[in-house]
Formats: sequence, C-alpha cells, structure tokens
Amino acid sequence: MTEHTLTVAGVAVDTRHWIGGERVASPDTYTDFSPIDGSALGEIARGGPAEAEAAVAAAKAAFPSWAATPRAERARLLHAVADGVEKRLEDLAIVETTDNGALLRSHRRGVMPRVAHNFRFFADWLSRLDHEDFETRGHTNHVSWDPAGPSVLITPWNAPLMLATWKVAPALAAGNTVVLKPAEWSPLTASLLADIAAEAGLPAGVLNVVQGYGAEIGDALTSHPDVRRISFTGSVPTARRIAASAAANLTPLSLELGGKSPLLVFADADLDLAVDLAVEQYDNAGQVCLAATRILVEESAAEEFTRRFVEKASRLTQGDPRDEGTDIGPNIHPRQLEKIDGFVRRAIADGARALIGGHRKDGQYYAPTLLTEVAQDAEIVQEEVFGPVLTLQTFTTEEEAVRLANDTRFGLAATLATGDPERADRVTARLVAGTVWVNCFFVRDLQAPFGGSRLSGVGREGGTWSFDFYCDLKNTVTAPKGFRDHG
Ligand code: NAD
Repeated sequence: MTEHTLTVAGVAVDTRHWIGGERVASPDTYTDFSPIDGSALGEIARGGPAEAEAAVAAAKAAFPSWAATPRAERARLLHAVADGVEKRLEDLAIVETTDNGALLRSHRRGVMPRVAHNFRFFADWLSRLDHEDFETRGHTNHVSWDPAGPSVLITPWNAPLMLATWKVAPALAAGNTVVLKPAEWSPLTASLLADIAAEAGLPAGVLNVVQGYGAEIGDALTSHPDVRRISFTGSVPTARRIAASAAANLTPLSLELGGKSPLLVFADADLDLAVDLAVEQYDNAGQVCLAATRILVEESAAEEFTRRFVEKASRLTQGDPRDEGTDIGPNIHPRQLEKIDGFVRRAIADGARALIGGHRKDGQYYAPTLLTEVAQDAEIVQEEVFGPVLTLQTFTTEEEAVRLANDTRFGLAATLATGDPERADRVTARLVAGTVWVNCFFVRDLQAPFGGSRLSGVGREGGTWSFDFYCDLKNTVTAPKGFRDHG
C-alpha cells in the first residue's frame, strides 16, 4: 500500500488520475465517503485545469495511432478489457457498492456483467458498421465512419461504471481516445477500469481518467479546442453549463439528463403486474434517471391498486446494500438526502399526504415514500427528486392520462400497464418519451436507441446511434476511370 492507495474489502484502488498510461497525483485531494455508514474511504486526487490539459494532451497524442489501428485489433483489445472486467467482477461489485451504496447483489448479477457486455457489444457492432455504396451519374459514393478524435466523457454517481462504460466502449471502438471524468462522489471503479484496460493492453493515452469536482476540472475539459466529442450524463443545470462551455468550439454534445417519467396504470391492466412495476421504482433508492416516479392510475382501479401497492411496498427491507436480503440501500450523500427531504417536506406543507414514508431514517437512508393529493403543477410532480419518492394521481379518460403523462418539461421514458394492445398503441403514439415500456420496465438492449426528449437530453446513443455520434461520417465520391464531368 502507498499513500496513493485505498482499500475496500481488501481490494486496492489507486486514488490518482490515470493520464498517458501513468498514475498522476494532484497537489490537492478530497475525501471520498461510503454512503453505507458515512465512513471515509480515502483521499482522492483532486484535478483541475492542469490535469485536464495533461489528459487531453495524452488523448490527442494517442489518437492518430489508435484511429489507424484496424477495427479487428481494436475489437480484440475491447474484448480483452471485457475479460478483465469479468475476472475482477467481485472486486468491482464490492468497490462500487461501498462507494455508491447500490445493492451488491445487483452489481454482482446484473450491473458488472453488463459492464463487460458493453465492451463486447460495441466491439462486435464495429464489424457491422457499414453503409452500402451508391452511384451518382456513374460515380461511386462511399460512406466511411472516421474516428472523430479525443472525447470527453462525464458521468454521474448513480450507476458509475455502467454509465461510464456505455460511453467508453463505443468511443474506443469508434477509434476515439477518451478522457473519462467520473463523478466525485463515486470515483473508485473508474480507477479500477484504468488498471483493467492497461492490463488488457490498451495503449497508453487511449483511455485517461481524471478525478475531481466538476466545477473545478469540468470547464477546462469541455472548452478544450482539441476535444472533438463530449458525452455527458447528469443533471440539467450541469448540462447547460457544459453546453455553454462547448459552444466556443462547437464541440458536438450528447446529453443524457434527468427525468420525471410516468407509469400509467389502466383499469384493464393486470393489477399485480402494475403494482410490481410501481414498487420497482424504488430500486437503487430511487436514484435512477428512468424511474417512473409519477404513478397515474385510472380512477376506477385506484383504490385496489393503492391497497396492493402499500401492502407490497411496506414489505421492502431497507438497510446495508451488502446484505442479500436488502431491497433498498442508502442515498448517495448527505446533501442528496437533504435535497430529497426538502422536496418531501415542501410537498407535505403544500397539502400532499404521505401514504407511506415521508421521512428520513437513521444514517443516509430515506423511507420509501408515496405521496398523494398532489397538484399537477406542484413542484413534487414537476421536478426530479432522485430519491425513493413517488407520487400518485388518478385519471378518468385516456385523453387525461396522456395529458398528465406529457405535462412536464422532461421526456425520458414512460411505462404503461394495460391489458389492451390497441390502447397501448394509441397511447404510446402520443407519449413524448425516448423509451416506452408496455407491461414491463427497464428492459434495455444495447442496439436500441437510448436518450430523452425535451430537457431529458440531446441525441441518442446505442448500437449504430453511438457510432453516429462518436464518428465523423465521410462521403467519398469517385469518378469512373477516364470520366470527366463538368456539369
Ligand atoms: P451532476 O450533473 O451533478 O454531475 C454529473 C457529472 O458532471 C459529475 O461527474 C460532475 O462532476 C460533473 N460536473 C459537474 N459540474 C460540471 C461542469 N461545470 N463541467 C463539467 N462537468 C461537471 O449529476 P449527478 O447528480 O451526478 O447525477 C444525477 C443526475 O443524472 C440526475 O438528474 C439523473 O436523472 C441524471 N442521469 C441521467 C441518466 C440518463 O441516461 N438520462 C442516467 C443517470 C443519471
């Protein structure tokens, strides 16, 4: 162990940046805490403009050779990274749980296997990236997918490695080099990813990781003239700052932002399924961008739905996310807890009634909460809470259901529970959302387009859409031999 290493359950994590294939310290550090019990995990290198400059320079230097590396070789290296993730799956799972408080069992069985899959999927998709040549007056048009250049990837704390690799994998596959900036509250698995990538043989400078507070290091990354792509997942206010900073160089942006998604429950739905879908919205202590936090139930089914929901939600166990039996863990940070509690207190002062929860618990835990008697224009219905807080409203017609569902500034996702496929088609066609789930939730395929409408985001990623973003598409028009076209 050195002064630059911390350990989590016996797993050593380097706390320095990873720049140009080397560990780099900063003069300053900040303390990283575990949300499980508020304990300090260690001191993390706190980057600023100098580290941003060094990381972009490393990514720029590594770019020409990585961009020229044949697709098959890039794919081989990404599969080697996936192998490394699988080999260290247990380490990654326990470190992530300790750092961000999400359930260990879901990290083990769902999230970390998915991290490996992110690398395999985009490595394999590379071989399918193509466009048929076409002809114009005897000339051939050939479309090529050129790597765009150094890419800055900025990610949040709610699903740290999952969201980071969903960007890192396609960016690297496309032939771009990367500067990854993980969230300050959960930086540890990004550091482990740097180790894994180096061990897999990724050349120095192809993947760089810089840590620190967004406000201190962010601007130097996003306003840098050598950066050719910025992909950001996080909140709307930060996205606005990044967009303003990127404007100087017109750097293309992909923005995956917040949501206030609805779950529409029609009286013709399988009510047990609808209740399961609703209770699932407490997953990850409600810190899920896609969460359907506004439950809209058809009036005639509302009483029965509510009775079954309260019964099921009351059985959820809340506690240490490392325990197999836990359903809901802690919230990420005391500041986030304060924010959640503020939303709930203001809603109750405004006339809302808590059917369950409505209060903090010991430590960094918030009781799963369902608020009713809320007005459509109330803050609690319009703003993203990012905690285990749901609202319940009723509707009487399909028309009203669609109107309520669409009536926020967001448009990330929507979930429908209905037994009528024609209704599902009618309603889906009118919903403003990047993803709609009918009688299911959170089924996600990497080849599907993913993103949000309105304030929920700009652009789509997934499958070919990711490469569309990370590549500069080029059309080459070649004249037939001996042909001269003056027209
Ligand atoms: P945040 O916007 O506070 O921070 C996200 C990242 O941006 C962090 O790494 C942070 O350090 C960095 N950052 C902060 N200021 C910056 C600046 N000026 N320049 C550059 N980077 C800066 O968001 P958060 O609280 O970490 O995450 C929660 C939000 O993320 C919620 O709104 C949630 O809905 C959203 N989210 C969206 C998706 C999606 O796919 N749509 C997925 C997960 C989370």
